[in-house]
Amino acid sequence: MKTHYDFLIIGGGPGGTPTAMALASAGKQVLLVESGAGLGGTCLFEGCIPSKILRESARRLRELREAADFGLCLPTQDARVDWYAIQERKRVILQRRSNAALARVQDLATLDYVQGMAQFLHSREAEINTAEGNVQRIHFEQAVIATGSVPFRPPIRGIDHPRVLDSGAILAIDHIPKDLIIIGGGPIGVELGQVFQTFGSRVMVLEAAPRLLKHVDEELAGQLRQRMQADGIEIHTSCQVNSITHSGQSVYVEYLPTSGKKQHRFTDTVLVAAGRRPNIKGLGLENTTVMHDKYGIQVDAKLQTTAAGIYAAGDVIGQPMFAHWATAQGLMLARHLLGQSVSFPDPSTNTAVIFSEPELAMAGLTETQAQEASIDVGTARYDFHQDARAQIAGRNTGALKIIFDKSNHKVLGMHALVEGASDLMGEAAVLIKSGLPLEAIAGAIHPHPTLSESFVQAVRATMAKHQSNT
Ligand code: FAD
Repeated sequence: MKTHYDFLIIGGGPGGTPTAMALASAGKQVLLVESGAGLGGTCLFEGCIPSKILRESARRLRELREAADFGLCLPTQDARVDWYAIQERKRVILQRRSNAALARVQDLATLDYVQGMAQFLHSREAEINTAEGNVQRIHFEQAVIATGSVPFRPPIRGIDHPRVLDSGAILAIDHIPKDLIIIGGGPIGVELGQVFQTFGSRVMVLEAAPRLLKHVDEELAGQLRQRMQADGIEIHTSCQVNSITHSGQSVYVEYLPTSGKKQHRFTDTVLVAAGRRPNIKGLGLENTTVMHDKYGIQVDAKLQTTAAGIYAAGDVIGQPMFAHWATAQGLMLARHLLGQSVSFPDPSTNTAVIFSEPELAMAGLTETQAQEASIDVGTARYDFHQDARAQIAGRNTGALKIIFDKSNHKVLGMHALVEGASDLMGEAAVLIKSGLPLEAIAGAIHPHPTLSESFVQAVRATMAKHQSNT
């Protein structure tokens, strides 16, 4: 570690690491500091990747159970979940990915990576407490805070007990809970609820809002809820959790559902998945003029904080909290800091996936967001029960919705509930970002039989309706 750098990047997750690499690739002297065990951040160690590894095992188990529907006579009654092997597979993948990230970072001559905790002493100086126990002061010209977020624990009596796990802890749990109560029906609660239900846990989801997944298309979120309930997950929305009491190996959760009558249930495990908050603890922001509130560090349109020369990106500046969003912000910020002209990521063209069963994926605006922007909104839709590919795969529920501006047919948003929806949304984002109209979808030849044909089907049906009305 040197004593002076062009850039200090704090946080080695999907926001900080690409930012540091882009700056160092341009020859800048960069120090990247990460307090965790390796490079990868929440995404790699406690988020996107481990949750999808567990989901993949759950998905394959589900497929095995459905094998008879496809004419396959397998001895499924002998199927057994080897939880240790699943966790071991996860460990190997995580390690491999972290090592690969480290190798890429070490390849850059002007990038120093230090495992340790960074703390601002003032707006141009920081103290680095390394994992080896050394303390060093460094000066920097500019800094980027990419310290991510931490799970939020709502103020419920008993919530701090060790048997109440957050998402990071449940992903590393050494057994499958017999009974799991999840506080929070957002993406993490829904994804992990379905995963553990598939592995055999009895699952109940308690959500304070009137519906699950409150930021996604209401109709599709409703269809997903029906599917979860059909699979045996108990769901209460508009539901307050009053208290969590512990006795021996049991946890007693008292909650108030819409019926207005207090209920309670004993469980062995509680997962709190009630959102995330910026991770600013120990950063020494009080030694700078960086302002923040409980939802994130305050930044302007170019990700500059209220302290000149200090920038922030990713989860630490608040919603939306996604790995791809953090990376997009970090890469644009790096180019901006290198003096290039850039357009910063626009939330109205962002993508998101709930890795539920089936997947619920989206790009661009929801119908409600478009209406709130005073757009004359049209919706083209297509139900997957008619779809060849979905029928072949035995996936006959769900729908695709295309949100467009009626005045010029410009596509504003795409929303799909179907297994495989996640892989449709990258191209949907290109379409939306390019400002293309519905006609561009209908005019392109889509391969058959694929889920991508659903775009064409939705558009054709809408255009036919439009023509018959004119
Ligand atoms: P982080 O990834 O949190 O990285 C910040 C890093 O900063 C951490 O490694 C931390 O150790 C380090 N740090 C903090 N303070 C200091 C300090 N003072 N000094 C040095 N280092 C410090 N997103 C998706 O896009 N797709 C998904 O499928 C998805 N699934 C998720 C599932 C779960 C269960 C969870 C919890 C999250 C999921 N996310 C998903 C969200 C995604 O993980 C985050 O949006 C993403 O990791 C944010 O990146 P970041 O770089 O801003 O922060």
